Amino acid sequence: MNDFLQDIQKHVEIAAQTLKLNPEVLENIKTPNRILQFIIPLKRDNGKVETYPSFRIQHSNVLGPYKGGIRFSPNVNLEEVKALASIMAWKTSLIGLPFGGAKGGIQVDPYKLSRRELEDLSRGYVRAIYNFIGPDIDIPAPDINVNPQIISWMVDEYSKIEGKFVPASFTGKPINIEGSKGREIATAYCGAVILKKIIEDYFPKMLNKSPTVAIQGFGNVGANLARILKRAGFSIIALSDAKGAIQSISKNKRLDSDTIYQCIKENGMIANCYYAGSVCGHTQGLQLISNAELLEKEVDILVPAAIEGQINENNADRIKAKIILEMANGPTAGEAEEILENKGILIVPDILANAGGVAVSYLEWFQNIEQSYWPEIDVLERVEKMIVDAYEEVKKIAIERKVSLRQAAYIKAIERVAREFNLKKARKEI
Ligand code: NAD
Repeated sequence: MNDFLQDIQKHVEIAAQTLKLNPEVLENIKTPNRILQFIIPLKRDNGKVETYPSFRIQHSNVLGPYKGGIRFSPNVNLEEVKALASIMAWKTSLIGLPFGGAKGGIQVDPYKLSRRELEDLSRGYVRAIYNFIGPDIDIPAPDINVNPQIISWMVDEYSKIEGKFVPASFTGKPINIEGSKGREIATAYCGAVILKKIIEDYFPKMLNKSPTVAIQGFGNVGANLARILKRAGFSIIALSDAKGAIQSISKNKRLDSDTIYQCIKENGMIANCYYAGSVCGHTQGLQLISNAELLEKEVDILVPAAIEGQINENNADRIKAKIILEMANGPTAGEAEEILENKGILIVPDILANAGGVAVSYLEWFQNIEQSYWPEIDVLERVEKMIVDAYEEVKKIAIERKVSLRQAAYIKAIERVAREFNLKKARKEI
């Protein structure tokens, strides 16, 4: 078991202990229901056939159909996807969705593929898992390096095999093929909503200033959050992506994330699917720093919005932020959590902070099933209510039980899954 998966299992076990969960129930709910591991062959443009290790882990469907994204990355591996699938199960439970948890991935560097190759690989993934997914079984969505364009190929492939258009088979679709308004910004929007609540409840003095923020990762989540926080009066002072990080040359001068985003957009595309530019391409008035330096900036709020394990026992004692808003899944690893807590740093856990994405995915699926389409304002209003309700309950549990927000979130999530598991067992549905 890798460290990431071990960390998640530990959170589950601590919550189970608090809830005095029956060991048999704990064993059942922390073990994935189904592990799909397969190879996708792809004919490259040079005529050679390459194979790509791929995964779909269906962790739990106690609360409803499996739900979770697909990640394209050269580093994706079975243990990582197992951890991410488990996180999804707790996240959907925490915010009260009628979904379970799953995750998928292809071990590939998608930036090295042509558009035709990327499309063929995406369609190959759907053919491989077709028998195990569907609107009532498992509904995949985007994760790192998977965007609405890729999802549109996947829906098309699924629909071709079905012989009819099935929009509810995937979420994160483009609006013109029955995606939901608000989906693209939902994760970041809800992260900002939670951050505002956290500041009001735990750091009211920050309300009188423009809190400083460093964001690691400038993709769907990081870039949208930067834009939303800028508009809300926060000072973004450092940004990064996989190529490196930037800050202003003048100390603590805010960055204009809108201009940076615009420049990245103007830098052309890879495979007509990914922006080729990087935040590091914009050096005017800016200084290049490393991702490691960004994490250690003296800021009010640190937002890891890239990959897991970025804050760990090697750098935890140098983190200076007051709040860590976990927009990535699993960014705080192992012993780091205790070190940060001892320093008085408040961690807003991933299963709460970034739950807006799956919340709007649910609303997209629901609109597809009902064939009714809502304006963005309605979508965001509904999702905000779901997230704020979950936050208030997590805060209450944290205060009553004197535990961290993460432990409180896990207690609430595990309790709901365990309760439903026991009911289903009594009805002999399990
Ligand atoms: P994305 O592919 O759109 O963007 C990822 C960003 O992270 C890119 O800017 C990339 O360059 C950067 N990155 C990758 N590796 C990095 C590294 N080692 N150091 C610094 N930066 C790095 O992905 P996304 O959808 O924005 O997802 C980001 C994180 O948020 C992931 O952990 C994902 O699981 C989580 N998340 C996403 C959503 C969603 O709706 N997209 C929902 C919940 C959670």
